[in-house]
Amino acid sequence: MKIIRQNKDIKKLLEKKYKFSFIPTMGGLHKGHEFLIKEAKRRKNRTMVSIFVNPKQFNSKTDFKSYPRNLKKDIKILKRLKVDYLYIPSYRAIFSFKIKNKIYLDSFSSKLCGKFRPGHFKGVVNVVNRFLELISPKYLYLGNKDFQQLILLKKHIKKNKIPTTIVSCNTIRMRNLLPYSTRNNNLSKKSIKLASKVFNLIRKEKKLIKRKKVTRINFLKLRKKLSYIGIKKIDYIKAINLSTLKYAKKHNERFNIFSAFYLNDVRLIDNF
Ligand code: AMP
Repeated sequence: MKIIRQNKDIKKLLEKKYKFSFIPTMGGLHKGHEFLIKEAKRRKNRTMVSIFVNPKQFNSKTDFKSYPRNLKKDIKILKRLKVDYLYIPSYRAIFSFKIKNKIYLDSFSSKLCGKFRPGHFKGVVNVVNRFLELISPKYLYLGNKDFQQLILLKKHIKKNKIPTTIVSCNTIRMRNLLPYSTRNNNLSKKSIKLASKVFNLIRKEKKLIKRKKVTRINFLKLRKKLSYIGIKKIDYIKAINLSTLKYAKKHNERFNIFSAFYLNDVRLIDNF
C-alpha cells in the first residue's frame, strides 16, 4: 500500500490513467469501513482510501478534538485489506485550491441532522467535492448509515454532472444491533448497553407500525420509553419515506426510522 500525503503525488498518479474506487473516511477505522473497502475490492479498479478529519463538518472545537483517531491501527487494517493507496492530506492540501463545481445543497439538507448541526452538510459536500475534483474516481463508496449525507452527495454529483458513480453500502452492526461507528470508542460499556437498548426499541417500533398498520406514524410512546430507560437528549426520531424523502405517515410506505440522540456527550445516529 502506498501512502500519499501531497497533491502533487496524486497528480503524478493520475497520469497513469488508472480507474479508482474511492472510500473517503475520517479514520478510526472499524468493520463498517472495512465492509466498504471489501465491496470496493470486488471491482478491478485501484482502491484509494482517504483519512481526513474534516474540521468544517464539526459544530464545535471540542467535538473535533475528541473525535477518536488512531492512524497506526488504521494503516495496519488497510494493509491487511490490501488497499492500493492511502491518501492522508493536510488541511492545506484540501482547502487551498479553488473549486470548479458549485456546492449544491438539496433541501433535504434542512431536515434531520441539518436542523441540529448548522453547516455540517455544507462542510461534508465541500470536502467530498474537493476529493472528487482531485482524484476523479470512477466509483465513490458510501455507507447508508449516513443516509442523509449519501443522498446529498448524490444530488450534488448529479447537479454538477460529475462523472463519478456512488455505490451505497449496507450498515454493518454489532451483534447487539449497535452500528459500528468511530464515535463508539468514546462510549463506556454502560453506554454501549444503553445504545443497544435504544436501537432494539426503535427496531421493535418499526415492526409494530407495520404489524398494526399504523396510518399516522408518531413516536410519542417511543420517546417516553427512551426517556424511561435514561435517554436524556434526543435530537430527532423521524420516519422518512426513502423514495420521496418526506416524512412517512403510513405503515405501507417504504420508510426507515432515523434517529439522533446523545449518551453523555456522544451523539449517535442511525436509520433502519
Ligand atoms: P466516517 O469515517 O464516519 O466519515 O465514515 C466513512 C464512511 O463509512 C461513510 O460513507 C459512512 O457512511 C461509512 N460507515 C460508517 N459506519 C458504517 C457502518 N457501521 N456500516 C457501513 N458503513 C459505515
